[in-house]
Amino acid sequence: MPESAMNWPPIRKPPGTLRVAPNLGDYATAVASFSWDDARRELLGDPPGNINIAYLAVDRHVAAGRGDRIAIRWLGRKGERRNLTYQDLKLASDSFANVLRDLEVGPGDTVFALSERVPELYIAAIGTLKNRSVFCPLFPAFGPEPIHQRMSIGCGKLLVTTPMLYKRKVAQIRASLPDLQHVILIGEIGDLIEEAHGFDSVISIASDQFTIPETAPEDLALLHFTSGTTGKPKGAMHVHDAVVAHYITGKTALDFHESDIFWCTADPGWVTGTSYGIISPLTHGLTMVVDQADFDAARWYRILQDERVTVWYTAPTAIRMLMKAGPGLPRGFDLSALRFAGSVGEPLNPEGVAWGAEVLGLPIHDNWWQTETGGIMIANYAAMDIRPGSMGKPLPGIEAAVVRHEDDAVTVIEAPGEEGELALRAGWPSMFRGYLGEEERYRKCFSGEWYLTGDLARVDEDGYFWFVGRADDVIKSAGHLIGPFEVESAIMEHPAVAEVGVIGKPDPVAGEIVKAFVALKPGFEPGEDLRLDILGFARKRLGTAVAPKEIVFTEDLPRTRSGKIMRRLLKARELGLPEGDLSTLEGPA
Ligand code: AMP
Repeated sequence: MPESAMNWPPIRKPPGTLRVAPNLGDYATAVASFSWDDARRELLGDPPGNINIAYLAVDRHVAAGRGDRIAIRWLGRKGERRNLTYQDLKLASDSFANVLRDLEVGPGDTVFALSERVPELYIAAIGTLKNRSVFCPLFPAFGPEPIHQRMSIGCGKLLVTTPMLYKRKVAQIRASLPDLQHVILIGEIGDLIEEAHGFDSVISIASDQFTIPETAPEDLALLHFTSGTTGKPKGAMHVHDAVVAHYITGKTALDFHESDIFWCTADPGWVTGTSYGIISPLTHGLTMVVDQADFDAARWYRILQDERVTVWYTAPTAIRMLMKAGPGLPRGFDLSALRFAGSVGEPLNPEGVAWGAEVLGLPIHDNWWQTETGGIMIANYAAMDIRPGSMGKPLPGIEAAVVRHEDDAVTVIEAPGEEGELALRAGWPSMFRGYLGEEERYRKCFSGEWYLTGDLARVDEDGYFWFVGRADDVIKSAGHLIGPFEVESAIMEHPAVAEVGVIGKPDPVAGEIVKAFVALKPGFEPGEDLRLDILGFARKRLGTAVAPKEIVFTEDLPRTRSGKIMRRLLKARELGLPEGDLSTLEGPA
């Protein structure tokens, strides 16, 4: 976020303009009086009931006589609609849990999902959690290679997907996934009958009564893959106890009330779409809108209007795309039902906050978190003045600081405005419990009691946190975190490529786009045909979500003496910025 962002005036919200009394009234009081034990008691009751996420999100409401409420209002791409009540969701997910049991997929086994946003995806998620299996959603725009990597690391035993995604992305890698025993296909399975089960047919023969076994708070529940600068994708493990944070952060940061109609635009293939697109809203017993279709400005305004959405959680790229569609379009829609709008995933420029105030009649509330934190950690609250461009203040129960760390020692930077790494004091319920099979990588995220986030930030004199950038080379494109190494490894497999370096190139809409610098093997000449061929090759393997948007040829790539490609230098050159310390550079660059 540029320095100038800090000069935007705060957006004040006189209490009279809030349509319902915010759950978090006075920030200082909420922080002082908060305890995780109280939050746990509020959700689980006293004496505490089963901590199983699916029980707390679904069955608990049915048991309390709220089964008739609509849990999911599903909007199909072609205008279809389907409502699932909490009772419907309970019965269907009971059936799915029984299907898993019948197929001998047990507690601790990983169930992967690769699906569009259709009701079956949500049923599978809840059913998996009921069975105490581990749910791992994948983004449907991934190509076969990211899917293969993640399913291999996660030892996926069962996959829920659609016939189209299976044929295009899974069939070719199935033989090299030895742990994968079952595939369940949503929709018409046709000629795939030999290879897979049909979702409807297995559900229809399974019993719709399932008793959720007693679940321990530390039982594994969710596996979410994320990326680092180097190495394979990391499987962040989350436990059932995380639901306490999902619940309470929905209450404080998104101001959930039971009567809300909530729309989270994120896909469950990314952590936001699971924590806040499935779990948190359901624990509040509200109605959530699920849209199958991809972004379309007019469609989105129509959904906000027609579904009378009251709380909306989206991302800066989507906001910038709506801004791009122009101010005339929203004038044709009645957006008056909306009372709270939030955003996450990448820096939200002050212009985005102000656009909300102008077009929606409410500013956008930015908040910050990441796959590893499992839930929102820093936020602008309904009752609080917004500093446009700032991520807000730490949630009650979360201690955040900007730190310097050297040789395993962490020093908290007290001086306002000084830049450092954003750190969180470890120990909140939705904190990841490890990277699957990578103890050392996990350990490196901590120094003493502090979890080091990999983000650079600063705090102003009033305690608002400001995002500065990433401390590493990961790329944020349209809110999706992409590891440059994963992209480079795929491009390296092209027969013409000798070496490749990948960076995030700033983009006015997507935040960053993936750009690759390619050096060719002897005998290959740079040219448009070869460039398109490499682009197509990368797309086919990585999928549209991960593949580069731009490829340029270069004679050779700057490397450190130890042989690592200096992405930092590639980026500085791309941006025309000072090249910084080149002392580790190999030879003349
Ligand atoms: P992910 O783990 O994919 O959710 O990505 C987490 C990363 O996204 C964070 O470490 C930040 O770099 C970035 N991020 C998330 N929310 C924000 C925000 N509100 N402002 C700036 N960056 C953000």
